[in-house]
Amino acid sequence: MGRFRARPQGCPADLDVDRAYRTDMAPLKTALLSLVLLISTILIPAAAAAQGALDAGAADPRIAAALQQVSAERIRSNIEKLVSFGTRSTLSAADPASIAAGHGIGAAREWIKSQFDSYSQDCAGCLEVKTDSFTEAPAERIPKPTEITNVYAILKGTDPEAAKRIVLVTGHYDSRNSDNFNVIDAAPGANDDASGTAVSLECARVLSKMKFPATIIFLTVAGEEQGLNGSKHFAQMAKQEGWNLEAVLNNDIVGGDRSAQQDASVLRVFSEGVPVAADDKDLRLIRNLGGESDSISRELARYIAEAARTYDPGIQPTLIFRLDRYLRGGDHSSFNQQGFAAVRFTEFREDFNHQHQNVRAENGTQYGDLPKFVNFDFVANVARLNAATLASLAAAPGPPGKVRLLTKELQNDSTLTWEPSPSAARYEVIWRATTDAEWNHSQDAGNATKVTLPQSKDNVIFAVRAVDKDGHRSLPVVPLPER
Ligand SMILES: [Zn+2]
Repeated sequence: MGRFRARPQGCPADLDVDRAYRTDMAPLKTALLSLVLLISTILIPAAAAAQGALDAGAADPRIAAALQQVSAERIRSNIEKLVSFGTRSTLSAADPASIAAGHGIGAAREWIKSQFDSYSQDCAGCLEVKTDSFTEAPAERIPKPTEITNVYAILKGTDPEAAKRIVLVTGHYDSRNSDNFNVIDAAPGANDDASGTAVSLECARVLSKMKFPATIIFLTVAGEEQGLNGSKHFAQMAKQEGWNLEAVLNNDIVGGDRSAQQDASVLRVFSEGVPVAADDKDLRLIRNLGGESDSISRELARYIAEAARTYDPGIQPTLIFRLDRYLRGGDHSSFNQQGFAAVRFTEFREDFNHQHQNVRAENGTQYGDLPKFVNFDFVANVARLNAATLASLAAAPGPPGKVRLLTKELQNDSTLTWEPSPSAARYEVIWRATTDAEWNHSQDAGNATKVTLPQSKDNVIFAVRAVDKDGHRSLPVVPLPER
């Protein structure tokens, strides 16, 4: 195709990979340009920019088939099993007798591990099942030194280089009732957060039947209710060991509580704006360039919305441009603290009578986080969205490196450069108006690593993403300015 392309209405989509055409071919220019414009006017609407928000390309049939394996019935059974341990308070029993009796957090931990092990047996040992244990010193919500154990399974990538890229799904398996120090009475935690734990387990079961070039980790953490202790420890380990952790999906309260005002067609996705891990230099750039809504966590949130448009998991993610709900926190922030992209999934409308409550009936109201309030079909859809996102990212090339926007002089067009990503077949430049929530224009850049677009960098936000030969797309990278 020619280098000059016509514009769909309202969408300045011209691409100029290099300028040779303009300088060398003046005699032929007028006639040829007319011809090219005539042809490209016909081709562009199908080939290039979208008017609405972008999707993640055509669905990969293998990923689509895996999503169909997600089972609401298995999720129900797993949530009920987690509830059966009575309490999963991080401070509750973990001695051998309690584990044998199926009571307390130790029993829950062992059962989760056995689930990961059984999935691994079904895939010829494809999962490496591990624990991350540490002793937390006494703190505000930890009365005495307490052993905390995260349980996780690694589906290692098949490509030695790409396997260093990691995407991760998590939920917390600890629970609480009205009193955060009560280790005796029931703390069923069916929604908060057996639902998130069940999502991580079900993603492991379904995706372990597939192979991906990059690595997926299925994590369940403890200590969330005591102060995010498990996730904090895990995220620090990832940072210290230099993991290339591209994405963290935290599922917490994804049960779709069956209250009358619930909207089971919607799932909230929370993402931080200005990164908590940003240093002074980062903050200056963010202020100067209007980067407040382009943290790596927010790009992950947008990617999730694109994956949902491609794979139609049965729920619609609604992006909330905020770290978390008022007065609340979650494990994604532990990963944000260490500079990783991490988002939180939570049902659309929470019922606070069913969270952090002793199980009891008062004046005709049932309190407590019981399985009967959980919508298992909704949790299955949440698992599908998680699995679609994990699989899309693990199948995709890594993002392009060193993406730069050239700002050497005052110009009304925009030149972007980047370094190639291994296994990328091509690249896409995507953009949106500074006031738009999601990416809504894209331009194929072929296998070039430098493009010039005719619209002004002053007016839009650009990013570049890598695409493999099958159409899997990487996370987008917003360029840094280069003078
Ligand atoms: Zn929770």
